[in-house]
Amino acid sequence: VTLDYACYACGRTASPPAARCVCGEPLWIDSDATDFDWPVDGPESMWRYRDVLPVDPPAGMGSVVGGTPLVRTAPLDDFAGARIHVKYEGTNPTGSFKDRGSAIGVVAAVESDANAVGTVSHGNMAMSVAATAASCATPCVVLVPADIPPERLDAIAAFDPTIVQVEGSYGDLYFDSYDVGRDLGIRFLNSDTPLRVEGQKTTAYEVCEAFAPGAPDAAVLPVSSGGHASGVWKALRELVAAGRLDALPRLYLAQSAACDPVAAAFRDGDDEVSATEAGETIAYSIANADPPSGTRALTAARETDGGVCAVTDDEIRAARDRLARDAGLRVEAASATSLAATRRLTDRGAIAADEDVVVVATGSGYGEAGAASPHRTTLADLRATLSELV
Ligand SMILES: *Cc1c(COP(=O)(O)O)cnc(C)c1O
Ligand SMILES: [Zn+2]
Repeated sequence: VTLDYACYACGRTASPPAARCVCGEPLWIDSDATDFDWPVDGPESMWRYRDVLPVDPPAGMGSVVGGTPLVRTAPLDDFAGARIHVKYEGTNPTGSFKDRGSAIGVVAAVESDANAVGTVSHGNMAMSVAATAASCATPCVVLVPADIPPERLDAIAAFDPTIVQVEGSYGDLYFDSYDVGRDLGIRFLNSDTPLRVEGQKTTAYEVCEAFAPGAPDAAVLPVSSGGHASGVWKALRELVAAGRLDALPRLYLAQSAACDPVAAAFRDGDDEVSATEAGETIAYSIANADPPSGTRALTAARETDGGVCAVTDDEIRAARDRLARDAGLRVEAASATSLAATRRLTDRGAIAADEDVVVVATGSGYGEAGAASPHRTTLADLRATLSELV
């Protein structure tokens, strides 16, 4: 696939393999969606938007990504303070929206003359790229930090990629991997590469199609590198250009207060996101202290009249419990920041009680350890125990 890239910030165009514009901002694919209309038929997956995607569907797991449920979760309205709809990305093959970007990236790599695909990740993206590559019989390289927890390493290793633990700055590894990959024929699909952003825009296509011809008033999603937020914003711009959206949903981004460079820039009214110190947070999937698409995500929030909001680990835990206990949706801590942020935004009056809010639950929580304390009994006492409990 030959594609042109464009810069959202300065309007310059560029050609691959450049990942960033000469102005320093990340590039995305310069797609023309002006003729786009909602498909009348087509698969219940991200590939129903084939007209605005740069590649054909692959064989393997990439072919069934997307088509995730959008659930109207009225029991969460009281907690959140608005009309809540959850976009649950946990039903993707490896349990997160990352599969959308991996599907596009891996097909593009297979079609090119690359020797392998690669990624820099210690979590969902690594699992996603490794699984998608495995299902296309494509070699895969995963670069992880030296201090990755063993259980996360095991989850990635299940798909048998070449895993390399790298000592040194994890932020620099993002940039260096592109240089090394270019020389060795490894196509790196990092958090905000243009191909990944293209796949990740389909989250918003699905949400908007579900509301068409209307639109939700607001959408709230967690932000780390800014790759997903970039995709969602790109989708909204394309849908406006195609005449499929009359009103733009406000885009709100959620971060953990322990690592909130995008929220800090929003609070301070800065034009650019600067690196911060990374503190400890249960939302480890969104703890990027130097986000490569941070400024683009910040711009997305501003241009849609939304905002960026940081929440504490206690607020994240409370939201995660409500999602499981009131809506039956188990999400990882990073994903629960969306609901926690929604509660703050309604408290503050930024979102009104009668507004329809799409809370994006970016990943399932089935991989996270819990601390359960069950009741205990014997078979002989089962009847007596249950009659007391229920
Ligand atoms: C990667 C990830 C995010 C953050 O997405 P970015 O594109 O890096 O901003 C949020 N939630 C989950 C579950 C993730 O895996
Ligand atoms: Zn530029």
